[in-house]
Amino acid sequence: MRLVLLGPPGAGKGTQAERLVRQHGIVQLSTGDMLRAATAAGTEVGKRAKTIMDRGDLVPDDVMVEIIADRISRPDAGRGFILDGFPRTIAQAEALDRLLDTKGLKLDRVIEIAVDEAMLKDRIENRARQTGGARADDTVATLHNRIAVYRKQTAPVGDYYGRKGLLSTVSGMGTMDEVTAAIGGVLRTAAGAAPEAAN
Ligand code: ADP
Repeated sequence: MRLVLLGPPGAGKGTQAERLVRQHGIVQLSTGDMLRAATAAGTEVGKRAKTIMDRGDLVPDDVMVEIIADRISRPDAGRGFILDGFPRTIAQAEALDRLLDTKGLKLDRVIEIAVDEAMLKDRIENRARQTGGARADDTVATLHNRIAVYRKQTAPVGDYYGRKGLLSTVSGMGTMDEVTAAIGGVLRTAAGAAPEAAN
């Protein structure tokens, strides 16, 4: 199974991705985690990415596409994957389509976790207070920029997949368990609607 999880910062993508990993035995490919690992390792990409991430802006598409192309080709992604944090722009979505095409693969579903902006702002302000800025991009100012970037550059990715008939939107306003249940419902429906795609 190959999934994309879409949703603004604070929507709970990471938590839901981890649960899907446990339920379905597929790998979670979080571009945020990959970039933070590159930063911690002190690689050239990591150093360049850190400045951009700390501002809450997006790392250039070509860098991200190369990282994902490399990661998807590894053996552990063979059984399927959940992309968490990618694609974040239309250009990345188009590059992903080409990449999967060359491998003869398709996405099964794109799940968008929708949260209204007032709640997002509450959540991120709490998160910034609780972590005390443990992550450099978890300050209130950066998180507000990340929401603005999401609205402008990433929200259109949902429409892109909507036009392809791949998008399902679940509400991210409930508890974590309610969101997990809603995602489970989407996947069961999708599997029922397209049994030949279930692998
Ligand atoms: P979240 O807290 O929303 O889960 P992530 O951990 O996914 O955030 O991403 C943190 C930061 O890493 C982003 O704000 C951005 O700077 C960078 N980043 C992650 N994925 C991408 C991507 N696909 N394209 C560009 N930048 C990215």
